[in-house]
Amino acid sequence: MKLSEALSQWYLENQRPLPFRESRDPYAIWVSEIMAQQTRIDSMIPYYLRWIEQWPTVEALAQAPLQDVLQLWQGLGYYNRARKLHQGAQLVVEKYGGKLPDDQKVLQTIPGIGAYTAGAIASIAFGKRAPAVDGNVLRVTARILEMEEDITKKTTVDRVSQQVYEWMEDCDPSVFTQGLMEIGALICTFKKPSCLLCPLSSFCQSFARGTMEQYPIKKSAKKPQELQVYTFLIRNRKNQILLSEDHSDGLMEGLLRLPQYAQIPESVKTAVFVENRKHVFSHRIWRMACYQLECEDVVLEKTHWVDCDQLDSIALVTAHRKWLKKMMEAKQHEQN
Ligand code: SF4
Repeated sequence: MKLSEALSQWYLENQRPLPFRESRDPYAIWVSEIMAQQTRIDSMIPYYLRWIEQWPTVEALAQAPLQDVLQLWQGLGYYNRARKLHQGAQLVVEKYGGKLPDDQKVLQTIPGIGAYTAGAIASIAFGKRAPAVDGNVLRVTARILEMEEDITKKTTVDRVSQQVYEWMEDCDPSVFTQGLMEIGALICTFKKPSCLLCPLSSFCQSFARGTMEQYPIKKSAKKPQELQVYTFLIRNRKNQILLSEDHSDGLMEGLLRLPQYAQIPESVKTAVFVENRKHVFSHRIWRMACYQLECEDVVLEKTHWVDCDQLDSIALVTAHRKWLKKMMEAKQHEQN
């Protein structure tokens, strides 16, 4: 039996019933693949269902205001994914009449669609022999072949793509791609591969030699950069909070945030220190010294007052929403 047959048979019998697996709609697969990047499947499913209900087609997404898109994305993190999906939908409407192209190379010209997502859409939705290589597929392949190359290198990704392409000969690409993803997610996991349950064990060199835990080879990731910042919760007597639209640090464009600076501005020198908080991004850590201030008038660039009862409908950066929520609850508690 060939590797692709063993994999496809296993997948058809063992796949999880996930909502986006019920669809061959390229748009739905595009959305699910983008959401699943850097997010656990069980966490992204409610977002996926809300998204597809609100914007069931590329056209509907293209016409949506960016603020609504970011608002629905709130909680998933890595907001650039949402922005790119929105831009991508607009381009697909303008250039392709709302229909995603079926070619892996052409798909990669759409904002936010890289080689992996293009491979996933082309193979799952259009049945094309197009490899979709993400971290899971790299890990599984590196173990099967006992690959000594660093999986963070492009040359390694290219080699894995070529290998996956060869494995895909004479099989249903949609089933194969989803099967390989499922093996990576359920069986050949990072910490503890379940080799005795794996349909690929008879093809796997590292299983044969008991070396599974030595693969994949990956050079250590760069440490995230730590930034000390000063964050201000500023309220007035009209039950309003001051929010900032400043994104000069290049992070989370389109989302509002609490006023936050590398140094304490003169105009808020009287603010009272509340606590230190930490928020970890993929490549950056904010060490936030959090202050609050009650005042009616303050001079801070790119800020405006927002009614507290509107905060739930505003797309705010998660680091600040969490602190704001804690402070609002404490205030509510005081008043009761
Ligand atoms: S046999 Fe083990 S190491 Fe090899 S692919 Fe399967 S789970 Fe991974």
